[in-house]
Amino acid sequence: MKLLKKVSYIVFALFIMLVELSVPYKPQDNVDANSMTLRQLKAKLAEEEAELQANKNKQNQTQAEINASKKKIEQITEEKTEIAKEVDDLTSEIETLNKEIVGMNVEIEDIIKYYQISEIGDSAELEYLFSAEDFTDFIYRMAITEQLTEYNDNKIKEYNKKISENESKTKELANKRKELNNKEAELEKYISSQQTSLKKTMDGALDIEDEIKATKKQVDLYENTYKCKLDETIDECTAGKLPADTAFYRPIVSGRVSSNYGKRTYKLNGRWTSDFHYGLDFSGSHGQNVYASANGVVAAIFKKTSCGGNMVYINHLVNGKKYTTGYYHLQNYTVKVGDVVSSSTVIGHQGGSPKYETWDGCSTGSHVHFTISTGNWGNEFRSYSGFIARNFNPRNVLNAPALGGSFTNRTRKY
Ligand SMILES: [Zn+2]
Repeated sequence: MKLLKKVSYIVFALFIMLVELSVPYKPQDNVDANSMTLRQLKAKLAEEEAELQANKNKQNQTQAEINASKKKIEQITEEKTEIAKEVDDLTSEIETLNKEIVGMNVEIEDIIKYYQISEIGDSAELEYLFSAEDFTDFIYRMAITEQLTEYNDNKIKEYNKKISENESKTKELANKRKELNNKEAELEKYISSQQTSLKKTMDGALDIEDEIKATKKQVDLYENTYKCKLDETIDECTAGKLPADTAFYRPIVSGRVSSNYGKRTYKLNGRWTSDFHYGLDFSGSHGQNVYASANGVVAAIFKKTSCGGNMVYINHLVNGKKYTTGYYHLQNYTVKVGDVVSSSTVIGHQGGSPKYETWDGCSTGSHVHFTISTGNWGNEFRSYSGFIARNFNPRNVLNAPALGGSFTNRTRKY
């Protein structure tokens, strides 16, 4: 009984120690992970500006690599032209040699015929062969014929050797040409991959430079309009300034769902392409009003980007949760960063037509790309990649008909 008591004391002591040990370490920095202070935001901005410089250097390096590869291709093309010329020369040399061999064969046959037919072949004159003078003459002629034949045989052998040499040289050159073709194809592939790394192909993708400009506008808004203190969190500072709402509405009055959220496969420039579509596409009449989907504050605007055109991002507080909505391929925008908007505010007009919005390479027809993420631009994230990391299917909060379905108002439930 005593022992049991002792054991239970020990167990209890160990338990207390474990509890002590498992109490989480209290971090020095106890700032809400979802909201940063103005000071932190400014520090992030400085970091991102340094990154921008690094990225620019990297882009320059990529461009230099592309140029070097292009130069290599030029050299290969030159080499190929030289090889083609060499092959031509060798081919015509072979032809000439073959002709010469044929000519020599004819010549020697003629010689043999001449000597053999006139002196040996004629049976009527056979008796003369036995005269000493004629016999000597016969032997002499035979010797000449033999010598000539031997000479020509040697010459033909020599020509044949040259022909086979030329043929192997031609083969060698053909192999070299094949090698050069492969090398050229490799370089072209490399160039196109490098060019893709420079070019944005994802709908809405941004330059770091543009993202930094957007962050600067946010800092300016917090600092000068909202008068945020340096060590106050942005959430604290913007409380009450972000108008609350209870629902999201479709951004246009009349349209059709032309593309769903998620992975999709489609034809681009005649080629099957696959990507993840981070939004819902609403096609509709070009130039119609585009509205804020819910009450909020305009957080970022990107003008005439090469993949997304004019884009507006709005910060929201819907049912107590922070969101950001994005509207791409706009013909124009009628708001500015910091504007307080309601769900009936016109923020711009529908664009996306390659005929009019010629700067936008990522739209094939008039439509609005509507996209949504959790958190606010300029607080929880400050970049396209940050936005995409928090992106979700708009259908989770927005009513829209099925793919291909049309609507004629902003609120009807489907
Ligand atoms: Zn889209």
